[in-house]
Amino acid sequence: MKPRILYTKPSITDLEVSYSNDAAINGWGDRCYEYINRFEESFKKHLGVDYAIATSSCTGALHMGMAALGISPGDEVIMADTNWIATAAPIVHLGAKPVFVDILSDSWCLDPQLVEKAITPKTKAIIAVHLYGNLCDMHSLLEISTKYGIPLIEDSAEAIGSVYHGKSAGSMGSFGTFSFHGTKTITTGEGGMLVTNDKELYEKILTLSNHGRSRSQLKQFWPDVIGFKYKISNIQAAIGCAQMDRVDELINRKREVLNYYRQRLEKISGLRMNPEPSGTINGAWMPTVAFLPETGVTREILMAAFLAENIDARVFFWPLSSLPFFGNSGHQVSTLLSNYSINLPSYHDITKTELDRVIEVIKKLTI
Ligand SMILES: *Cc1c(COP(=O)(O)O)cnc(C)c1O
Repeated sequence: MKPRILYTKPSITDLEVSYSNDAAINGWGDRCYEYINRFEESFKKHLGVDYAIATSSCTGALHMGMAALGISPGDEVIMADTNWIATAAPIVHLGAKPVFVDILSDSWCLDPQLVEKAITPKTKAIIAVHLYGNLCDMHSLLEISTKYGIPLIEDSAEAIGSVYHGKSAGSMGSFGTFSFHGTKTITTGEGGMLVTNDKELYEKILTLSNHGRSRSQLKQFWPDVIGFKYKISNIQAAIGCAQMDRVDELINRKREVLNYYRQRLEKISGLRMNPEPSGTINGAWMPTVAFLPETGVTREILMAAFLAENIDARVFFWPLSSLPFFGNSGHQVSTLLSNYSINLPSYHDITKTELDRVIEVIKKLTI
């Protein structure tokens, strides 16, 4: 059996080890927030935003951010059908309803026309997810957001390094969120970040994130509202600081991996990969091949071929509306993509030999 190729794993160097060691030894008492503050500062700088709050996860960041926008029972939030459940769960926890719309077949992200059609008087937010690092059509979505006065949220968990006409993913909407789960481009094990340029919203979320205690509250242990506990630890933030010191290197390596695949696979007819329209940069979190149905190369065929070569097969996201508890069948484009696509292994330290093994599997299926 050939050695297993993982689909993802973090890039951890002596730098991450030394920062987290330091945090474990010294990061207590009056230094207990040092790495957290530094992590937020470096993230703000990288993204070009005014405010950042580090969290225990992207899911938590979304939950607090949507709570701060006042999303509550009876409200609707529009999002793409193709997605990880993490974007939908906080909507449900707030008592609101996720409204799933289909995606575009080229970007694999929200179809702005369908978003506009789905707007009702109950719509309180639109969530743009930059899937696998691919960018949403932010121009159209921001226009719709302004026209209807509905906040646009950017779930950029998969899109650090993605840039839309000079603006970083996550920096364009009411607020943006990021994930540092172990599978993401930069990691803290578990962790997240909420970013915004809106001072008022920032203050609200900061209060929520501190168990409802406002910065201006002088009384100790006095919550002004019911808040949340989605904080990151100083030790995790220390790992995050090291990852941010290396963020350009980490993103560039992801892009290198995507481009290596692209150069060898994209010319195969009936196969598409992550797009990078002019004026944009794809952060390349998850290189993905999507076959056209007429090729007959299904998810099951792809998975079997990968497993036979001891390569991790990671399926394209299922349409959320096909999940029994959302009680429907998936939208058309979302379903087709899920049925004929697969994510390719792309961790930073993947070798040329390993990449070539993956490429061979795909090529063999297309002869
Ligand atoms: C990974 C991911 C999340 C969840 O991130 P956590 O940090 O695990 O909460 C949310 N949205 C998208 C699009 C993701 O890919």
